Amino acid sequence: AEIEKENMKGTVYKSTGSWYQVKADDGKFYDCRIKGKFRIKGIKSTNPVAVGDRVEISLEEKSEQETGVITKIEERENYIIRKSVNLSKQTHIIASNIDQVFLLITLNNPPTFTTFIDRFLVTAEAYRIEAILLFNKIDTYNEDELVEIKYLAALYREIGYQCIGISAKTGKNVEQVKDLMKGKTSMISGHSGTGKSTLVNAIEPSLHLKTSKISDQHKQGQHTTTFAEMFDLSFDARIIDTPGIKGFGVVDMEKEEIGNYFPEFFERKQDCKFHNCLHLDEPKCAVKEALEEEEIPWSRYKSYLQILKGEEDQHYRIDNYP
Ligand code: GDP
Ligand code: ZN
Repeated sequence: AEIEKENMKGTVYKSTGSWYQVKADDGKFYDCRIKGKFRIKGIKSTNPVAVGDRVEISLEEKSEQETGVITKIEERENYIIRKSVNLSKQTHIIASNIDQVFLLITLNNPPTFTTFIDRFLVTAEAYRIEAILLFNKIDTYNEDELVEIKYLAALYREIGYQCIGISAKTGKNVEQVKDLMKGKTSMISGHSGTGKSTLVNAIEPSLHLKTSKISDQHKQGQHTTTFAEMFDLSFDARIIDTPGIKGFGVVDMEKEEIGNYFPEFFERKQDCKFHNCLHLDEPKCAVKEALEEEEIPWSRYKSYLQILKGEEDQHYRIDNYP
């Protein structure tokens, strides 16, 4: 095929292995292939191009359909990965250039434990993706439960995370979530049953249809592998859907690094006696001192210890709400 137009910029919306759907800056979608080899700084992955990548494409002249060739990938702001379980331990890039991730949290139905929230936040920090906590189903909580929600929201706000109580079902504060999505690329995460598809439906019903269609295919087992896909919303926002991908992937972390992803630990680290302090039993540890002073919550320290020791999530729950 002949090259019709060169060096158009665009964004990858979908990848099926050999073909990539690219939305070019002219607003149109083009099916693109890759030509040649790409060298991208920092990572070796099984897929050279991922959903979310900013690319340059050259269009081919073809009668039936407009197709193109990806000629260049811009450096990624961030990306999330999946490691294959087989021995080769190859890395697959699930998606890139994600502005923010919303974590849906419910108290009991299903329970979301602080250890899970903290692991999620650590991963988001390591990936350099902003995380926003959405306490969903606030229409269902009694007074005691609302106290618990408020306590948790205050705890995470103090650290610097934005927290919003919402009801995906009644629509409470969903407008606020939409406002935060404007002009950005978002992901929505959370345990199964916390209300992700209900929220997507409240934000945009037509998108809900598309994403649930994908999930249904997954259930029927028509695809052994599912792929991430980006969707445009009607109000200048994009959502990346990652069907069949649990949680948020894994990041390899050095022990010394983990404390850096707890912002309230990190800001005190310079006051620890040892520059490589792990905040365990070292003398003159500013983090342990702040913990004794109750400036750092115990729940956060428990999560930190679990991650540091490489333990399974032990479902720690704050049981004493002041
Ligand atoms: P997902 O697995 O995270 O996609 O969760 P779903 O969106 O399927 O929601 C699981 C269940 O919780 C469904 O029965 C929803 O109707 C219900 N649900 C979701 N959000 C809310 C909410 O804000 N309030 C109430 N009362 N129920 C909700
Ligand atoms: Zn320390």
